Amino acid sequence: MSYDEGNIFARILRGEIPCKKIFENEEAFVFHDIRPQAPIHAIIIPKGAYQNAYEFYKEATPQELQGFAEAIVKVIDLLGLKEYGYRMITNHGLHGGQEVPHFHVHLLGGRPLGRMVAASD
Ligand code: 5GP
Repeated sequence: MSYDEGNIFARILRGEIPCKKIFENEEAFVFHDIRPQAPIHAIIIPKGAYQNAYEFYKEATPQELQGFAEAIVKVIDLLGLKEYGYRMITNHGLHGGQEVPHFHVHLLGGRPLGRMVAASD
């Protein structure tokens, strides 16, 4: 399946719909999730058209990989998450429960987050 240029994160990147931006560099864009699952819930996306983590880590250039990693570190600092910690999640496909088909990392924190996956799920 090819990349859907109409997905919501592509539209945010093009400035077609608003978001609460946290940080941006050449390769990555970071904003608050519209339905936060924790006191802090940021979404980190590459600016390139990658559908999921597999595509990104397989196909991204060294510059894209570095810019994305730098954005993650910067946002951990900006949001004050280093001391007490945080959780990073990426969902891929049907079993991952991915809703938006543009690769993204969820960065959650601000309270203890409990078990990673509910035992019965
Ligand atoms: P996924 O399930 O694909 O890993 O996560 C998609 C995330 O995008 C969800 O947490 C959802 O709340 C968030 N989201 C969906 N639409 C929007 C939007 O229009 N703006 C923002 N900021 N977040 C969105």
